[in-house]
Amino acid sequence: MYYTIKETVAALKSGETTSEKLVQSSIETFTADQKSEKPLNAFLEIYGDAIECAKKADAEIAEARANGTIESLYKSKPLLGLPFANKDNISSKGHKLTCSSKILEGYVAPYNATVIARLVEAGAIPLGRCNQDEFAMGSSTEYSTYGATRNPINRDYVSGGSSGGSAAAVSANQALFGLGTETGGSVRLPASYCGIYGLKPTYGVLSRWGVVAYGSSLDQVGVLGHTPQDIAIPLSAMSGVDFYDDTSADLPRSENLAELSAYKDFSSLKIAVPKQFEEAKGLDQDVKKVFEDTKAWFVSKGAKIETVDLPVLEASIASYYVIALSEAASNLSRFDGIRYGNRVDNQKGYDQLYIDTRSKGFGPEVKRRIIIGNYVLSEQFSGTTYKKGMSIRARIQREVAALFESYDLILCPTCPTASFRLGEKYDDPLAMYLSDLYTVFVNLARIPSISVPAGFTSKENKASSQMPVGIQFAGKMFDDVKLLEIAQAWEEDHKACGIPVKENK
Ligand code: GLN
Repeated sequence: MYYTIKETVAALKSGETTSEKLVQSSIETFTADQKSEKPLNAFLEIYGDAIECAKKADAEIAEARANGTIESLYKSKPLLGLPFANKDNISSKGHKLTCSSKILEGYVAPYNATVIARLVEAGAIPLGRCNQDEFAMGSSTEYSTYGATRNPINRDYVSGGSSGGSAAAVSANQALFGLGTETGGSVRLPASYCGIYGLKPTYGVLSRWGVVAYGSSLDQVGVLGHTPQDIAIPLSAMSGVDFYDDTSADLPRSENLAELSAYKDFSSLKIAVPKQFEEAKGLDQDVKKVFEDTKAWFVSKGAKIETVDLPVLEASIASYYVIALSEAASNLSRFDGIRYGNRVDNQKGYDQLYIDTRSKGFGPEVKRRIIIGNYVLSEQFSGTTYKKGMSIRARIQREVAALFESYDLILCPTCPTASFRLGEKYDDPLAMYLSDLYTVFVNLARIPSISVPAGFTSKENKASSQMPVGIQFAGKMFDDVKLLEIAQAWEEDHKACGIPVKENK
């Protein structure tokens, strides 16, 4: 495995490596990992046809090299031969899709999600499906039926969630890039915990067709990679209007993604730091220190930073959990033992069939959320909770949009703490929900945000071994390309994911 997409493409073009070798190396790492004392558990499965797809790509590459058409081949298929990690809630035709839940055990996706179809069209190879919190509900990947995904930096720590499998796979160099999904931070949070980049695009930029719904008005596919460029290339292949998703939209300036340039115009960049986030209880001192260093970097480049007051942000977690859980209760009603997946039928009639199927099929966190969601939507409470949650969301959208009339960027930590020990928050759902303190306003406001690897916790911190810390650059709707350019400038100054694996050998 090479470190970046560009390096890998160069090696494939020259014949220094083959797609088959790349897939083979992932299979070997996966198999060895499964036998290790503390398995990472990033992939649940390497797809059985990955090698076959790689061989086809190799044949195409070899033919083009012989004909002298390799450059034009890569123009039309920029990801040819590159394996990527998929998440277990994104449909890849003919492959299992379980959302890491018992209720979908054995379910096979009958079609490709649009994001998968577009990656395959660009030549990429779906390598396998990665672990996640059941139905993407969680912040640590511990709420998976298949056990937690460990953090590659320290295997006694969580990988973050819910896209912890994809993040760990990329961080451990088992895949070049990975797909995750976000409802309230599930790409950015594990990116931060695993020390890589993770982008949550503007709502609509990536089609949701074929992605299992959690909270549809918040759900979005996101990308994980070692560099902003590694996110930009797949993003350019996947983005844009899709007939099957009415909320999909084209990404402005997407033609700049293939050759991402580092942002230069820092002297005209105005950055807002919400006071509510800086003063939040529970913000770890080490995270605060990394945040200060990040601010100092922006200032050294010539940007202006101002503290802003946005009191409504204090209600973002409450608003998020009310809306997300209401939508989840409604979306998950389709898993009834009739239409999808596993059925438990004790021959006691339909009502009992639904009850038994859902009682057996869903894990405790999913049940907790369905119960809260239905409670919130019930007639006597919806006025005080659901409608209130919605009006707070509208205020967040309005005030964030107004802020972007004067500022280019909102800067804040990705999470209040770095990764924590496995089991530490498992039995304390409220503590787990608070991990999302800085991420959910982005989904509520439908804006784009990237988590960049910005530093580590200190050696002196007794609560944690030295773990990565991510900082978010959030921008206005459809400013995704600009965010990636700013992140690319960060990357060029910091080589943020550490020493590239090749140089490390
Ligand atoms: N941690 C949040 C939740 O559990 C976000 C999950 C997500 O983004 N899928 O709802």
